[in-house]
Amino acid sequence: MEKRSPVRVRFAPSPTGALHIGGARTALFNFLFARRHGGSFLLRIEDTDRVRSSDAMVRQILNSLSWLGLAWDEEPVFQSTRIDRYLQVCRLLREKGHAYPCFCSAETLQEKREAALKATGEYRYDGACRLLPEEDVRRRLESGEPHALRFRMTEGAVVFTDHIRGEVTVQTREMDDFIILRSDSTPVYQTAVVVDDHDMEITHVIRGDDHLSNTPKQILLYQALGWPVPEFAHVPMILGPDKKRLSKRHGATSVEEYRENGYLSPALVNFLALLGWSPDDNREIITLREMTAHFSLKGISGNPAVFDETKLAWMNGEYISRTSAEDLFDPVVRHLKVAGLVEEKDISGNRSYILRYIDLLKGRMRRLTDFTTLGYYFFRDPESYEEKAKDKYWLKEPEQVSDRMVRLLSALKSLDTWKETILEKTIRDLSEEMGVGAGKLIHPVRLAITGFGVSPGLFELMEALGKERVIRRIEKALDSLRNL
Ligand code: GLU
Repeated sequence: MEKRSPVRVRFAPSPTGALHIGGARTALFNFLFARRHGGSFLLRIEDTDRVRSSDAMVRQILNSLSWLGLAWDEEPVFQSTRIDRYLQVCRLLREKGHAYPCFCSAETLQEKREAALKATGEYRYDGACRLLPEEDVRRRLESGEPHALRFRMTEGAVVFTDHIRGEVTVQTREMDDFIILRSDSTPVYQTAVVVDDHDMEITHVIRGDDHLSNTPKQILLYQALGWPVPEFAHVPMILGPDKKRLSKRHGATSVEEYRENGYLSPALVNFLALLGWSPDDNREIITLREMTAHFSLKGISGNPAVFDETKLAWMNGEYISRTSAEDLFDPVVRHLKVAGLVEEKDISGNRSYILRYIDLLKGRMRRLTDFTTLGYYFFRDPESYEEKAKDKYWLKEPEQVSDRMVRLLSALKSLDTWKETILEKTIRDLSEEMGVGAGKLIHPVRLAITGFGVSPGLFELMEALGKERVIRRIEKALDSLRNL
């Protein structure tokens, strides 16, 4: 049984950086699990590190989650507002005898650590303060001596069944009396997480397996406090193509960067879901709604997933071509603005032109940024011509090409109706008249009006660009041909 009703899960980012791919996938799995079981998906901002956390990062993380469509339930919980509660629980642990004050100074601990690492390669706190006489402890506390609080490790083993890893057993002798409250009275991660997960009534903790080693300690805290222990699912990490842990070295890692680089959120969500999870039928293109219907923790692989950017780009291209021009309008316009190809004031007046541009191009674009790099000619006359296409279509017989384009130009100028079918007939009739294949006109003209050797169908394109632009560009191309 995967569920204990009602399911409550959480995503708990630390706002010390942007939301990255790994975090987004963890959030997504939590979201899917909650939706699958009619439960709640909560958000907790782990901002106890006031120096490294920032409000700007909190906003960016929330924005990225919203953009991905991962709507959370209830108000986000901020750890920075709950310090008193953590202190209260630490006191409780002390009262129950599960924690004890540790007066060891940072220097002493550091020396011991270095010596141990040198001797055996591993370090555990030696329990120096564990057995201090009560009298001694009281005296030192009364004199205000700085101290941390440590958990009093029990004997035996911690055993739990992870939904992905299966049964995990850790002997408590492999752990030490870990700190639950620092000497400056700030709670450590372990304490805050357990208190929050309990108070938020979290039933399932789904997180990256970099936290696996924390789980036994957290379970011991639950047990010491007499609290129910949630279920756990530790998701394997994401690797780069070189099989090393995905990091900045591999390129873009934050959700924000993918948005900037022209990815659609449903494509990114689809891709992230399949990084480690697969639906029963192994399909590749799957919507958030379908994922929700099929999601189970059992479907998550126990092996690390490899991040394949080429596949992401392919998937994004699939989504772009399946999305209507209307729905692509806002995101594409956003990129057009960033690229300086349109200005806000021109957008509403050119809506149908822009929609047509999107429609003509969307079948071939892998990223929204391709609309601006490969389709800039909808908004600017070509600034240069692709070299290979120039060699192939213009420079083999420049004079003949010029002559043909001059004749086409006059035919085009005399047209009253600028329609795809008429444009096609004009070009085909003219090539027949000149005794050459239509390609002898089509390719050189395409290069003239787009700057590229490949484009959407020429006749549709000419219609979309309009008479004025097409004529001006053919004239400009004739000029450059003459100057070659
Ligand atoms: N704040 C932790 C992180 O960003 C997550 C802690 C947890 O999920 O328990 O890695």
